[in-house]
Amino acid sequence: MALRTVDTLDLAGKRVFLRVDLNVPLDADGRVKDDARIRAALPTIKYAVGARAKVILASHLGRPKGKPGDRSRLTLQPAAARLSELLDRDVVLADDCVGEGVKKLVGEIGDGQVLLLENLRFHPEEEANDQAFARELAGLCDVWVNDAFDGVHRAHASTAGMAAYVKERAAGFLVLKEVEYLGRALDAPTRPFVAVLGGARASDKVRLFGALLSRADAILVGGATAYTFLRAQGVAIGRSLVEEDRLELARQILERARGQGVELLLPCDHVCGTQPRDPTTRKVVNGSAIPEGLMGLDIGPRTLGAFRQRILDAGTVFWNGPVGLFEQRPFAEGTLGVARAMAESPAVTVVGGGDSAAAVEEAGLLSRIRHVSTGEGASLEFVEGRDLPGVKACEE
Ligand code: ADP
Ligand code: MG
Repeated sequence: MALRTVDTLDLAGKRVFLRVDLNVPLDADGRVKDDARIRAALPTIKYAVGARAKVILASHLGRPKGKPGDRSRLTLQPAAARLSELLDRDVVLADDCVGEGVKKLVGEIGDGQVLLLENLRFHPEEEANDQAFARELAGLCDVWVNDAFDGVHRAHASTAGMAAYVKERAAGFLVLKEVEYLGRALDAPTRPFVAVLGGARASDKVRLFGALLSRADAILVGGATAYTFLRAQGVAIGRSLVEEDRLELARQILERARGQGVELLLPCDHVCGTQPRDPTTRKVVNGSAIPEGLMGLDIGPRTLGAFRQRILDAGTVFWNGPVGLFEQRPFAEGTLGVARAMAESPAVTVVGGGDSAAAVEEAGLLSRIRHVSTGEGASLEFVEGRDLPGVKACEE
């Protein structure tokens, strides 16, 4: 089913509830440490302002637990200030997201003006998708627009529940862009379609492997995930992270790949250490087997070369999960190398996952990747082929 998008609606003079993701990291002084999420929300906000809507923005921030300090620690005040700078216009922050005071403020918004509701999660009803709360939010507006991609996999009151109680619903431009890129990569990829999967746990990626096995031409496996596969093949992996209870599953994935003609490429050399916290023990190990006492902490140079070639030759690349312990400089080469290969590749390149996106940013390559998803859980659930309630609610 097709998404209804915000630009197909007439917003002039209407109260538009725009669910955005302003869940930004804050520093110790409560200032916005990284405004990427606010900037990602700007196109739809600016569009609504330009269309002379009465713009009601709403977001969550962090995980308030109803503790006394939560309200001051997790207020959207810093996000409101940064948003106001970026928009170069006033952003009024309400002191709550429901209640009489909020209704009054909503009644006072002029066309093209912006009101930001306070952190939705100050009310546990938000995550519980409480229907009375959803109805109350819906009562504030004429139109509901969902542009918080990182929340589309959750059926919360503001991300899905309230859609049932509003007259008009649509997706914002960020949600549209995410769905288009992730959807195109999966459903109509330019071939060869190469997936790079890494990360700490193979068990996180089981469904991802399942979905990619029926679509990709090659899957390049790195990170700790790779050791579970190597171990399943009877290869020695020393003290590397492994999930002993997933060996059978890894064997099944290897079997399926063979049966379906998908190349599943595992590391043929490694960068090892004796322990992750001590980078001085860095040692390159040739061959797929890892000696006793060593831990595989990054893919080796030959493996990187092989990954790189396939990425450069690809028509589409999807990457999730760092291929090493990239937070430690001596074990970051493989991950940075994958990021560079993606930047140089003519392929449609798509990155999903928080740590992988952080690695791309650290390499200074954000602008050279076609699409870096703003969603962590959401992008993976999308690729896994799960239903996304926040997207479904925007379908016509
Ligand atoms: P993403 O957030 O991109 O989905 P994951 O959360 O699945 O990625 O995995 C990221 C984590 O995996 C990182 O913290 C990284 O250090 C860790 N990791 C990758 N390779 C290894 C390894 N060989 N040993 C230990 N940890 C690893
Ligand atoms: Mg992660």
